[in-house]
Amino acid sequence: MRRFFFSFACASAGLCLAASLPPEADRQLAHDIYKQIVEIQSGYTTGATTPVVEAIAARLRAAGFAGPDIFVGGASPRKMNLVARYHGTGKRKPIMLLAHTDVVEAKKEDWSPNLDPFKFIEKDGYYYGRGTADDKAQAAIWVETLIRFQREGYKPDRDIILALTADEEGGGPYNGVEWLIKNKRDLIDADFALNEGGKGELDHGKPVANEIQVSEKSYMNYRFEVRNKGGHSSQPVADNAIYHLAGALVRLSQFGFPLKTNEVTKAYFTQLAKLDKGEMAEDLKSAGEGSQAAMEKIAAESPAWNSMLRTTCVATMLEGGHAPNALPQLAAANVNCRVLPEDSPDYVISTLKRIANDDQVAIKPTQVELSASSPMREDVLKAVNRVTDTMWPGVVVVPEMSTGATDGRYLRVAGIPTYGVQGFFFERNDNRSHGRDERMRVQSFYEGQTFLYELVKTLSQ
Ligand SMILES: [Zn+2]
Repeated sequence: MRRFFFSFACASAGLCLAASLPPEADRQLAHDIYKQIVEIQSGYTTGATTPVVEAIAARLRAAGFAGPDIFVGGASPRKMNLVARYHGTGKRKPIMLLAHTDVVEAKKEDWSPNLDPFKFIEKDGYYYGRGTADDKAQAAIWVETLIRFQREGYKPDRDIILALTADEEGGGPYNGVEWLIKNKRDLIDADFALNEGGKGELDHGKPVANEIQVSEKSYMNYRFEVRNKGGHSSQPVADNAIYHLAGALVRLSQFGFPLKTNEVTKAYFTQLAKLDKGEMAEDLKSAGEGSQAAMEKIAAESPAWNSMLRTTCVATMLEGGHAPNALPQLAAANVNCRVLPEDSPDYVISTLKRIANDDQVAIKPTQVELSASSPMREDVLKAVNRVTDTMWPGVVVVPEMSTGATDGRYLRVAGIPTYGVQGFFFERNDNRSHGRDERMRVQSFYEGQTFLYELVKTLSQ
């Protein structure tokens, strides 16, 4: 049997913890890469990802990666992506390790006075800086893991592809993963990919759950539009563009798409039930089994659970009228829908038309970003369970369907199943990604390093 990273029984939590940290030299290297790339300003509007991937390419070359195994390219000179290949025996199809190198913008004045979003600062057991959580920790660890494999002479049974990409957070000219799929598919073709999107959850410092993101909802925008000939507002008529639109939106606000589960959310609620007690545990379990009454209760309990159990559509923007003293000739709204992967755009638009129930309200899609679900692959789930169980005995692995979006959706739609899993544990309600004082617990970073190293090894031998 392969020697695991600790083989003795843990006498205490402290011992286990110490045992699951990587060797000192590897911790230092991961730290240095992490610091280096957090301090490169790669905000997706004002920054650039090219200096990040150039720094990584230099490190990989120095570690012995040969020229042709490192590709740097992209849609714009500022927004380069990196793809590197670590060769295995070729017995199985490659796996891909994905992370994005762009970050959400951050201004120093918006952060606490003793912090700076583009300085990597260690304070009170945390690393602070933009990207420390989203997504430069995983990027740094993927790079360190490959350098460590190289040093150790590790021979996996499949190639391991590293993809560090641009514009996950927005911007353009176009998304890095999308660009690679369209232009360099041969470089990134893989059996499956590991990505961001799943976090570990701490309850007062104690790890309780490790998420694996298996699918995401689709993202769609619809324009509701009413045109009218208008007229003088001193002589109103019943046929008013704003009232037609308002009526349709009120009917939408009172409507809920049907509650249902799919393979992923079924597993999610079933696993979540193990973390709760009493009535809540019962309701979660029954919701996972598809009980309509339980799903209704759970959906009413939290907007996040509601969104996992149904397609949602909500009005997000309004426009209308052209003068205070004129009847409106135009009233329009944007309706944003987060759609279960199994619900089609045809179903969504026909439902919206039925609920709006007014011929005057024209409804058209303005953006449709389809998502797909990855299969609940036994090999991947088993590996995640095994490494989780070894590092954090008793922690429940929770498969998840994200209600938001990551780059995983491009890969899933392109036929490369993608699993969001990181092994970085955060305190509940301490999600500062995209916000002020973004941070990562120091201990979580190095435990994540061990987790990801062991996970990739488990999946490649
Ligand atoms: Zn991210």
